[in-house]
This record gives sequence, structure tokens and C-alpha cells, in this order.
Amino acid sequence: MTNDPPTNQFRVGILVTDLQCSTQSFLLFSQRMYSNQRNVCKGTMLRCVGFSLIELLVVIAIVAILASLLVPVLSQARMKAKRVRCASNMRQIGLGMRMYSDENRGSLPGAGHGLEATSESWIHLLKPYGITNPQLRQCPADKLAMARTQNGGSSYILNGYVAIDQISPFGEMIESFRYLDRIRRPVQTMILFEISDRIEPESFTDHAHSRAWTGNWQNVISEIQPDRHHSGKTASQHNSGLANYLFADMHVEALDAQNLYRRILQEDNFARPPR
Ligand SMILES: [Zn+2]
Ligand SMILES: [Zn+2]
Repeated sequence: MTNDPPTNQFRVGILVTDLQCSTQSFLLFSQRMYSNQRNVCKGTMLRCVGFSLIELLVVIAIVAILASLLVPVLSQARMKAKRVRCASNMRQIGLGMRMYSDENRGSLPGAGHGLEATSESWIHLLKPYGITNPQLRQCPADKLAMARTQNGGSSYILNGYVAIDQISPFGEMIESFRYLDRIRRPVQTMILFEISDRIEPESFTDHAHSRAWTGNWQNVISEIQPDRHHSGKTASQHNSGLANYLFADMHVEALDAQNLYRRILQEDNFARPPR
């Protein structure tokens, strides 16, 4: 009887006892390790839970590098968002002009050239055609926009070519581009520009005398801001960056100031409606 092989029940009993023993041993081993670790850490706290000075400097350097990479990207994204909002304003104004012209035998609204009241200027004539919100008259990148609105103006000025007829001293019509349906190449004819910072908000100016721009960049930048939407440092000649332009087919395009600068110096006045 005593030499009988152990039963299955007996084998399971041994296994359970072994498992309990192993678990207890493991727990005892872990406690010892933890206790040893704590003893080591007590002596060298910095090594266990803190940073060394070099590690801290490396982290600061990495953060500085990331910041220097991110800041220009963020500022460009912000500038682009402003340009898009400005283009949307111009598009709205263009729709208003189209509606005005449909009800006024094809004529564009007049400029304040020789007008007594600023309320007769084109921007106010567009109020019945949806241009009532003052923000539609403001380019988000124009720092003087608010002051201009308060003085009855806006961030945008009409191209003199389409706003004012050219009349001879004897009262004869020399040329006129005031009627939308008579403009030969609407896709290439500019109607609206972004106003220059050099024009103070106090002086009410709603149109550019663009016939005087040929060969004279100073005349251009005294009336419009060809780098209104630029990032980085402003060039003294305002010929580095972009600005939005509304065309007679009512599309809006952002054009490079450098190209326009070259055209003006080559006596090619970009404001003149092509024939
Ligand atoms: Zn004028
Ligand atoms: Zn703008």
C-alpha cells in the first residue's frame, strides 16, 4: 500500500503547494529589491528622480529649436488667413459692384473725385447691394482699417482708370472705362486696389490716380500697398510681398509686388485696362 504511485489528487496538491511557495518567494524577492532600490536612491536622489544640468540644457535647446522652426510657420499661416479674408471681402464688394452696374446701365459706382460728400463715394453707394457690414470694408492686415472706417473710408481704393473718365481741356471725352460691359478684357482689368499706408485715415481718399503711375513707382506706393500681405521685414520700396486685386470679371487675385514693380519701371502701367 505504501509503495502505491501518488494519486492525481495528491499530484495537484503538490502543484498548488509549489505555486504558493513560488509566489511567496517572488513577493519576498520584489520587496527586497524595492527596499534595496530605496536605500540606493536615498544616497543619490538626483540620479534616480531628477535631471542632470546637461539633460536640462539639452531639453531647453530642443524646445528653442522647435520654437524657432514653428514661429515663422505660424506667422505665415496667420498672414495667409488674413489674405484669404481680404480676398473674400473684395469678392463681396465685386458682387455688390456687379449688382450696382446691372441697375445703372452698366456703370460702375463713382469715385469721390470732386465730390462734396463722402457719402456719395462708391463704397457707400454699394450699401443697398449688401456692403453694409463695416468689416467688409476692412483688410485684416491694414492696421489703419478701423480708423479709415470711422472716417467713412475703407482699406480699398478704386482704380482711377475705371473710376474717372479722361476729358480734354475742351470738355471732349478722351477715354472711359467706367462701363463694365464696355471693358474689352475684364479678366485683365483691375478695378480695386489695397490702399497705401501713406494715405492717412483722416484724408478721405477712395480712388487712385493711376494714370500717373507709368514709369513712377513712388506714385504707385503713395496710393496703393503692393506688399500689404507680406511676411517678414518690409522692403523700403514695398516691392516684396503680395496684395489682392479685384478684376472686372469680379475675380480676386493676389499678385507679387516684385512683378508689378518691374512692369512700372518698364513703363508698362499694370493699372491701365488692356485694349
Ligand atoms: Zn482724384
Ligand atoms: Zn488685404
